[in-house]
Amino acid sequence: MREPFPSLVITEDAFLPEGSFAEAQAEFLRPDPAVVRELDALLSAKKIGVVAHFYMDPELQGVLSACTWPHVHISDSLKMADAAVEMVEAGCAHIVVLGVDFMSENARAMLDAAGHHRVPLYRVAAAPIGCSLAESADTPEYDAYLDEAARTERALHVVYINTSLHTKARAHARVPTITCTSSNVVATVLSAFAQIEGAHVFFGPDTYMGANLRELFATLAGQRDEAIRALHPAHDRASLRGVLERFHYFRQGTCIVHHMFGEEVARRVRDEYPDAFVAAHLEVPGEMFHVALERQQAADAGVAGSTSNILAFIERKVAAAVAAGEARRLPFVLGTEAGMITSIVNGVRKILSAHPGSGVEAQIVFPVAAEAIAAAPEHELGVVPGALGGEGCSTAGGCATCPFMKMNSLDALLHVARTAAVADDDLAPYRPRLYVERIDGRTAADLGGEPILHMRAFSRGGRLPAALVEDVTTRHARRARGSASPA
Ligand code: SF4
Repeated sequence: MREPFPSLVITEDAFLPEGSFAEAQAEFLRPDPAVVRELDALLSAKKIGVVAHFYMDPELQGVLSACTWPHVHISDSLKMADAAVEMVEAGCAHIVVLGVDFMSENARAMLDAAGHHRVPLYRVAAAPIGCSLAESADTPEYDAYLDEAARTERALHVVYINTSLHTKARAHARVPTITCTSSNVVATVLSAFAQIEGAHVFFGPDTYMGANLRELFATLAGQRDEAIRALHPAHDRASLRGVLERFHYFRQGTCIVHHMFGEEVARRVRDEYPDAFVAAHLEVPGEMFHVALERQQAADAGVAGSTSNILAFIERKVAAAVAAGEARRLPFVLGTEAGMITSIVNGVRKILSAHPGSGVEAQIVFPVAAEAIAAAPEHELGVVPGALGGEGCSTAGGCATCPFMKMNSLDALLHVARTAAVADDDLAPYRPRLYVERIDGRTAADLGGEPILHMRAFSRGGRLPAALVEDVTTRHARRARGSASPA
């Protein structure tokens, strides 16, 4: 008989790990008070704002969550750059970004666009922090994909935020481009089709997300017009058929973490957890996405979406059980990076502690193999979860931890906090890359920031900005006229 997946049960006043992976995750939720005190004092004395991604190492998230300094923000990548700008406008003198390099680059670009060029921003590793997905857009294959888009009339390139500023700039020079995140990709793509007649949307580089979007649109196209309009008022069954004909996605871009939630994991979830809620990120392979989407549609028992959607779904289900007086354990299969556990614990605990004695518990199931845990004799626990320990990931269960995100360390964070404002020049390796090379007469940083600014305008107004729409409708025609002109 196979061991069940590891899990963490969150109760009103405790968390109960089951399995060594979950035990390691749980341990990080009880951070060392001396470290918390030192970091808190440094952040507040030097006015350092901290923005971190949900996938950050649980040890780091545990320490950050225990700090009392108010300018600490943990979220998905959509909100990270905005939070950095807000912190500076609230008086922070430095910003530290915990994530991978495209996140610190995005935050730097948004600070610059808001006129805060002088505020130093630091990453939390001296070495470059890559991302397998971002790297798959920096390839000849992606160039060929963009060339195809550039040859297509009314083409809009919707690029996932998980790409470098250089990729965004290179793409925008070829095809009008807007950035998206997993939180707003559905709205962005549907709005593009609604606002630009005959548009062709080229999404990239995440292949699984592209395929999942296509499945989502196909599923929606089979629903009633009212249900479709509830998701996007400008669409119905007929318009979604057009969407399916003119939605393209890149076929060679993969996040190595979400890739692990493959067929076998999905089968185990389906067979061994028939009554669990299933939460799957848009980046996971189709099989797992399908399980979540099926449960979402059958009985509101699942969510297929962004990290924020997953967190909101778990909190909504826990709050509903509390309100209904159901004293029971709610199982949730977490089909995304395990670092989200800290935010989930904090969110669930807040609900349960506001209703003492409810008897409701949340069990977070990590669909990872038992071997997704590595011996680490130098670590006080003796083990660490995920690929950081060098054990590699397994298609039998996934490792559920991103080795790139885990390059951010508590030691590096303390080093940056201790050194900032004392010896800033020593922190040169911790600054994001500047992207000063010129593309189409502009720096890559400036040109690559434009697709992000388009996304911010879309987030504010719910519509693609007029300048971007005009760019889509005229650029191809201009190019065609240009190539038809006599030499
Ligand atoms: S989980 Fe890691 S590899 Fe995957 S997209 Fe995020 S940063 Fe990149």
